[in-house]
Amino acid sequence: MVTGEIDQKEIIIGIDLGTTNSLVAYVDKDGPQLVKAENGERTLVPSIVHFSEGGGLIVGEAARDKLAMYPESTIYSVKRLLGKSYSDLVTYSKGLQYTIIDGEDELIKVEIGGKYYSPIELSAAILRHLKRKIESDKNVKVSKAVITVPAYFNDAQRQATRDAGKLAGLEVLRIINEPTAAALAYGENSKTESETIAVYDLGGGTFDISILKLSHGVYDVLSTNGDTFLGGDDIDASIVAHWTAKGLLEKVDLKNSEFKQLVRLRAEEAKKHLSDHDRYENGPFVLDRATFRSLIEPLVQQTIAKIDAAIKDAELDLSELDKVILVGGSTRIRYVKERLQEYFKKPIFDDHNPDEVVALGAAIQANILAGNDSDKLLIDITPLSLGIETVGGLMDTILPRNSKIPASVGRSYTTSVDGQKNLKVAVYQGERDMVSDNRKLGEFILRDIPPMPAGIPKILVEFVINADGILKVKAKEERSSTETEIEIKSQYGVSEEEMGKMLLDSIKYAETDMKLKSLVDARNEANSLVLASQKFVVQNAVILTEQETKKIESHVQTLKSLTAGEDKDAIEAEMQAFNEFSRPLAERAMDHNLAEALKGKKLD
Ligand code: ADP
Ligand code: MG
Repeated sequence: MVTGEIDQKEIIIGIDLGTTNSLVAYVDKDGPQLVKAENGERTLVPSIVHFSEGGGLIVGEAARDKLAMYPESTIYSVKRLLGKSYSDLVTYSKGLQYTIIDGEDELIKVEIGGKYYSPIELSAAILRHLKRKIESDKNVKVSKAVITVPAYFNDAQRQATRDAGKLAGLEVLRIINEPTAAALAYGENSKTESETIAVYDLGGGTFDISILKLSHGVYDVLSTNGDTFLGGDDIDASIVAHWTAKGLLEKVDLKNSEFKQLVRLRAEEAKKHLSDHDRYENGPFVLDRATFRSLIEPLVQQTIAKIDAAIKDAELDLSELDKVILVGGSTRIRYVKERLQEYFKKPIFDDHNPDEVVALGAAIQANILAGNDSDKLLIDITPLSLGIETVGGLMDTILPRNSKIPASVGRSYTTSVDGQKNLKVAVYQGERDMVSDNRKLGEFILRDIPPMPAGIPKILVEFVINADGILKVKAKEERSSTETEIEIKSQYGVSEEEMGKMLLDSIKYAETDMKLKSLVDARNEANSLVLASQKFVVQNAVILTEQETKKIESHVQTLKSLTAGEDKDAIEAEMQAFNEFSRPLAERAMDHNLAEALKGKKLD
C-alpha cells in the first residue's frame, strides 16, 4: 500500500435533493459525513438557483439572498415542478414568483429572462453545485451518486430526477425513498434484529409518512402515504395570511414581489424563533406561540390522518410500532413533536438533525452499493396497482398496490379469436376494475403470433420493476418465442392529488365497479360461447338435424342481442339455457368423432 488515498475505493456520494434544502454526504472510515456548505458550519444548501443579468448561475445561500430583489430570475421549489405537466400545476403556478409555461411533451418550462429552462436542467444546476462542492472539499473526482426522492414520487418524477443527475455529470446508481434513507441512518447503530418503524417527514414542501419493517438487516417498506403539497412553506403562508387578516401589513404593498418575499422570510423567521421562544416581534410582524399553534393545528391534524391511513394500509395496529423517526426541518417545531408524542405514545427518535438524516442515509446506501457494506438490502414498494387491459376493458392487476420492488411478476394470457396474429398489451395504473377509470401508462403490440386456434397460444406478460421503480413490460408467445417489450417512461405520471383521488374512487365506486365487472365477465363468457357454437355448427354439420342447427342459431342471436344490453342476469340465464340444450348435442358429436377416429384406427 503506497498511500491510503490511492488504495481507497471510489467515493459514491449520497444526495438529498430537497424542495427547500439539498445536502450531500459520503461515508469514510469514521462513518457517514456531511459536506459543509459554502460558508461556515451549515450543511444545508438552499435548493435555489439564481440567473444573474450577466448570464451567471448562482446556487444555494447566495441565490437565496437574491430572492427578494430578483424574484423573476430566482427559482425555488424546483422539485415541485419535476416530472409535472402544465395542467398538473395551473393552480399552483399562480402562487409562484417566476413564470412557468407549457413546454413540449406536455412538460413545463420555466421562463427566465426570455430563455426557457426545464425543471430537470434547474435541478441539475443544484446537483452540479453539490458535486463540485465535495470535489473541491475532498480533492476527489466524483461520478456516481445515490439520490433520494419522496416515497410518493411517481415514475416520471423519478425518471426526471435521474435525468437531472445525468445532466450534472453523475451516474445515478439508485433512486431511493427519503424515509427509507432516514431509517437506514437510524439503523446504523441499531442492535435489534427486527422492528417496525414509522418515519414522519415534514419538510419545506412535502409530507411523507412511511411504515417500515426491519428484519434481519433488511428494510421492507410496508406502506407509504403523504402529500407533496404540505410542509413548512404552507406554515409560512398561514402566518402571512394571519398577518394580512389582522391588518398588520396594511402599510406593506403585497403586490410588490420584493415585499412579498420579505414578508415570507419574516414568517419563516417567526416560525423558527418560536421553537425556542414564546413570542416573536420584529416591527409590524408579531406572533406568539399560542397563536402559532392554532394556525398550524389543522396542518398537523392532516398529517395525523395520513398516519392513520398508512398504518391501516400496513395492516398494523398503532401499538405494533416499535419506534418513530422524525425527519424534515419542520419537525423541529415543538408543537409537532408534542402532538406526535401524544399520538404515537412511542419513543420518538430525533437524535440526528431532522434535516440532515436523509442525506446520511443516502450516503450509507451509496456505501452499500460501493460494496463496502454488503449485509444490508433495501426494499421499496409500488404506490398504485399496475396491470393490463383484458377483454371488455377490464383491468387485470399484475402488481398490486404496495408490492415490494424490485419485482418481477408474470401472468399467462391467450387469444380470444382463431388465428389471431397481433395482441395489444395496454398497461394501466390504478385501483378501479375498468381500465377506462385508471391511468394509461403505455401500450405495445405483440406481432406475428403464428396462426393458432383461439385459446391455444400461451402469452406470458411480465412486469419487471427495477430498484428505482421504473417499469418494463414484456410479452412473449411461448410456443413460438415471439417477443416484444417496452420500458414505461411515462412523460408525466399521476400527480399526488390524482393518486389520492384514484384511491378514494376505488373505494367509493367499489360496488358499481363490481357490478360492471360481473356484467363484462358475463359478456365475455357469452361471446366465447357464441364463437364456440358457430365453430361447432360448421365442424359437426353431418350429425345435426336442420331443426337443431336452427335452434343453435336462434340461441346465438338471442345471446348476441343480450350482450349488447346491460342485463347480466338475462345473459347468464340464456347461457344456461343454451348450454342445457347443446350438452346432448356435444355428447353426440363426441361419440361420433370418437367412432370416426376408431374407424380410422381399424383401417390402419
Ligand atoms: P425539504 O426536505 O423539503 O427540502 P427540510 O427538511 O430542509 O426541507 O425542511 C425545510 C423546512 O424546515 C423549511 O420550511 C424551514 O422553514 C423549516 N425549518 C427549519 N428549521 C426550523 C425550525 N427550527 N422550526 C420550524 N421550522 C423549521
Ligand atoms: Mg427532505
